Amino acid sequence: MFRVLLLQLPVPRLNYGVQTGNIPLGAACLKQAAGILPEVQVDILPESVASYLGDAAIMEILLDRKPDIVGFTVYCWNLARSLYFAEKLKLHGGPRIIFGGPEITPDNLTVVSKAVDFYVCGEGEAIFLKLLENPATWEKMSAMEPAGALFKKSPSPYLQNLLEPEIENLMLLETQRGCPYRCGYCYYNKSHEGLSFADETHLLQGVQWALDQGVKELYLLDPSLNAHPDLENLLRKISKVNKRRRLKIISEIRAEAIDEKLADLLAAAGFSWFEIGLQSTNPRALKIMNRPTRLAQFAQGAKRLKQRGIVPAIDLIVGLPGDDLQGFCRSVQFVAENDLADDIQVFPLSVLPGTDFRTNSKELGLRFDPSPPYALIENASFSADDMLLAFDHAEVRFDVVLYPMPDLDAAWKIHTAPGEAAPRDIAVKIGNQHYIAKLQLKSERPLSELAKVAKRLTQPYQIFIHPGLPGPDAIKSAISILSAANPFTPFEMVFLEPDPLPDTRSLLSAVGLQRPHFLDLDLRYLFSREGNRAVLFTLVSRDAEPRFNRDMERQIFWWKKDRFPGMSDLSHLSGLDGILIDVAGSQGEAEAWQDRFAGHAENIPPISFAEVRLQRRWLNLTMPDDYVSKALDWV
Ligand code: SF4
Repeated sequence: MFRVLLLQLPVPRLNYGVQTGNIPLGAACLKQAAGILPEVQVDILPESVASYLGDAAIMEILLDRKPDIVGFTVYCWNLARSLYFAEKLKLHGGPRIIFGGPEITPDNLTVVSKAVDFYVCGEGEAIFLKLLENPATWEKMSAMEPAGALFKKSPSPYLQNLLEPEIENLMLLETQRGCPYRCGYCYYNKSHEGLSFADETHLLQGVQWALDQGVKELYLLDPSLNAHPDLENLLRKISKVNKRRRLKIISEIRAEAIDEKLADLLAAAGFSWFEIGLQSTNPRALKIMNRPTRLAQFAQGAKRLKQRGIVPAIDLIVGLPGDDLQGFCRSVQFVAENDLADDIQVFPLSVLPGTDFRTNSKELGLRFDPSPPYALIENASFSADDMLLAFDHAEVRFDVVLYPMPDLDAAWKIHTAPGEAAPRDIAVKIGNQHYIAKLQLKSERPLSELAKVAKRLTQPYQIFIHPGLPGPDAIKSAISILSAANPFTPFEMVFLEPDPLPDTRSLLSAVGLQRPHFLDLDLRYLFSREGNRAVLFTLVSRDAEPRFNRDMERQIFWWKKDRFPGMSDLSHLSGLDGILIDVAGSQGEAEAWQDRFAGHAENIPPISFAEVRLQRRWLNLTMPDDYVSKALDWV
């Protein structure tokens, strides 16, 4: 039996257990296509493993499984980490490596590595079958081959239980491949020749399956749902299957295409949210990006959705060629005055490989970061300072935080067995193994022990530094060992009442992460200065005087008292970055406090609980859609 292992690595995050959207749909399509080959076994690295384990832990699993081929689905956020795994596997005399996914384009030199044996551009199924059936195919080293016919005749891989919808409580259903539009910043339209549409019967089976499984949301993957042929009839059929609108359906659409009739049909089918790219209202920018937009019709279409309770999530791009700060502010004004800011998304322009913007970047005057996500630094009419000002302006005008700090979770206590010395490392169970999510440094730990721990870390992980740990050298040794074994895994250091204050710049010098880390670049606008975004420092102190607030530093108050805080206590402490509630007492009392204050979470400082179970309960109460509740058990 010939064995293939497929994996897709997530967008790195600084909160453990937060949903990542890392659903390996591409891998599932490949596995489904290869089902016709009796001598081939295709496995997908489970989402819970790929998304929530650190580098060393994943590497151990890859080596342990000994596959003949490893296939990576590569996006801009996982390119460097995928290359790292590919190169390490080769060092171990490992398997053949295939790279596919949106990041693989003919002009993208950042993906080139001796460790990769084959690059697949665009759809994967047809070329994957050829690689498995005909060894000579490998000699080509890269290929692009349409798979529209296979796509059309295949039901959703969810129906064969190839994916785990319970992790995100979300199902992705492909309705279309290819796009009729030609936006200058997008590669998707070039990755597929022409358009292919999923078979309608398969689509409706997918909707029924989502309902039967109790999935909460169904994402119809279609770059522009309005381009779907005979959309009205399809919507009528979906509304018959989803007759009580139990299933929330979300997708992407061009707002100008939405008239009253289409809006009614979308509402009846169960749509609750649409991503709608406006990008800009500047006529010059719209022309250069080849995205003609009739603004009055756009606003009308989006409002028609709102009138039916469907959220139009409007996207704007900062730094488009032909746009400038004033032009961007006018785009913001357009969204605001049309009352369309319910779920606004503002992105810096990414000059993506394979796009017209990338090909013509010199002529367009685009200066961008050479590393993913290839964010624009400046263009002829948008200076680097203007980029920052644009985000500031959008935040003020829309009253939103576009680059929030990670959620607060400074929980470090778990029930300990009688006689057990607290605190102990806190683990989660993934599959049948325990992995450490919260590591405790109370006294110096032997380096050999830390080297073992480094192989069992989650992504991300936290290090709790307890009072009394001798000197910064012990901390530096620990983070050096842990991060060297996990060079792509972001982490947080939580200091419990340290004396003196930690010197975070000195600590960063011991961190062995590969720089720039994807987060360093992706979260560039979290602070005005460039630099570290992949290691977070949290100070927990009973001193309410703010004294720890440089980039990536935050300070929270240690509420270690015999009573829970009231509203006046919370407002008194609102100058800090949050409050860690550490009250000894009954669980019932703590839960009652949570039930009382959960509804006010947006108006009080960020809250964390010292006890892990209470912390998970608080997150579920206040951010029910953001965290994975199944598949990750705390132990
Ligand atoms: S941005 Fe959307 S509409 Fe434009 S080409 Fe890409 S997929 Fe098509």
